[in-house]
Amino acid sequence: MTSLARFLYEVIMMARRRGRFAPTPSGELHIGNVYTALLAWLQIRQKDGQFIMRMEDIDKPRSRPALAKQIVDDLKWLGIDWDEGPDIGGPYGPYTQSQRLHHYEAALDRLKRDGRLYPCYCSRAELLAIASAPHGLSSEGPAYPGTCRTLTPEERAAKSCTKTPSFRFQVYGNTAEGVSSVKRHESLASWDRSDFVVQRADGIISYQLAVVVDDALMKVTNVLRGSDLFDSTPRQLLLYEALGYEAPDFVHVPLLYGNDGKRLAKRHGDFTIARIRASGCPAERLIGFIAKLCGLHDRTEPISAYELIPWFDLGQLPKAPITVDASMLAELLESSGG
Ligand code: GLU
Repeated sequence: MTSLARFLYEVIMMARRRGRFAPTPSGELHIGNVYTALLAWLQIRQKDGQFIMRMEDIDKPRSRPALAKQIVDDLKWLGIDWDEGPDIGGPYGPYTQSQRLHHYEAALDRLKRDGRLYPCYCSRAELLAIASAPHGLSSEGPAYPGTCRTLTPEERAAKSCTKTPSFRFQVYGNTAEGVSSVKRHESLASWDRSDFVVQRADGIISYQLAVVVDDALMKVTNVLRGSDLFDSTPRQLLLYEALGYEAPDFVHVPLLYGNDGKRLAKRHGDFTIARIRASGCPAERLIGFIAKLCGLHDRTEPISAYELIPWFDLGQLPKAPITVDASMLAELLESSGG
């Protein structure tokens, strides 16, 4: 692109909503992921915005290329499309995290330079011991009491002889009181406010950092995701601020639960899209099922993802967790002859 074309593109972009679905290819796509993917997609499509698909394979040992391929295929089958993504590229690519390491390294360098990070030598066992402390657990693991924050340079030098450190982002004063963006955010109360890891000891960049860098560089304006990531959001807002990026709007939707009140998982039944597809269930039936489940449609009847766009209304979504049980799945599959 010429610089004028680029400039014009940026101006148009600024006026348009940009959302994304960012799956981790460590498991098959299932009803739970599709439900958030669909809502994120509808939110953007209804406003004629642009939708991005980003493959979050930053944790290489947990990621499998075959699953990444399967996820792309399942989403396409469902009629969820994207304007930029790993398979089609786009102006802010690449759209696969393992190919974006230079961006994360640059962000790390900046945070280090600005004195926002410190090396942490705590072992897994030490961290687990902390888990029994009163701070409890968050999606980041045990709340970290800041053990390595106050090490002297001599102590750091001694420890680094025997251990490669992880790097933690320093949440100033163990409180985010001074951070306006966090302060006005709904999830302020729900996180432990302890210093969190941005680079693991094995060198892997943390989800928290990678997702912020990507959403910022990909000019994402709207993030809609599951409420399991609710307590990650204040951490991410701090990173946006520290890196000088503008934060997007966040919406967290309730997760799908099994009828035992636990988050939907394998033990509740095979809710994978692969299984549902294999049963002969048409994509429209599955979309219709999800639409009814989350209150966007008053009937369980087949509907395509595109036909559902006018029905999208964030205010209609249930506030409480949504329950899905094996009998509902059986009904879905039976009625499609599977
Ligand atoms: N990759 C994350 C996951 O699969 C989602 C990231 C996000 O939506 O912020 O849970």
